[in-house]
Formats: sequence, structure tokens, C-alpha cells
Amino acid sequence: MSALESHVSKNASCPWSGNPVRADSLTRYRGHVVGFCNPGCRDKFERALACFDRLIDGETTMAEYPESL
Ligand SMILES: [Zn+2]
Repeated sequence: MSALESHVSKNASCPWSGNPVRADSLTRYRGHVVGFCNPGCRDKFERALACFDRLIDGETTMAEYPESL
């Protein structure tokens, strides 16, 4: 069990699907624990963040964004 699993997420439902957050599908963002309904949704969020990081750094364009999810 990771340290994240002992935290309560800021959100009660998955931002992708609206389903209830599961304790095994949490991540940390800007100092908050955010939750998802399954690890796949969490990974999708992390890929989206990574894409935005690349956008900000000028390494990609918005046109590439949908394919990266
Ligand atoms: Zn979900």
C-alpha cells in the first residue's frame, strides 16, 4: 500500500466518468490528492498532464493532444 492510499481524494467522483473514486486509483496534483474510478482513468489524467507540460514547453501542438490520450 502506498502513502497515497491513506489519503482522501479532493473529489468524490471520477472526473472522466463520474463514477465513485477508488482508493487504488489516486494520484497527486498541485499538492492535492485527486481520485479516479480505476487506474486507467488515473493514467489518462497523468498522460494529459504530461501532454500539457509538453505544450507549455513548446514541444508539441494542440493538434497532437487527442492522440496522446
Ligand atoms: Zn474513471
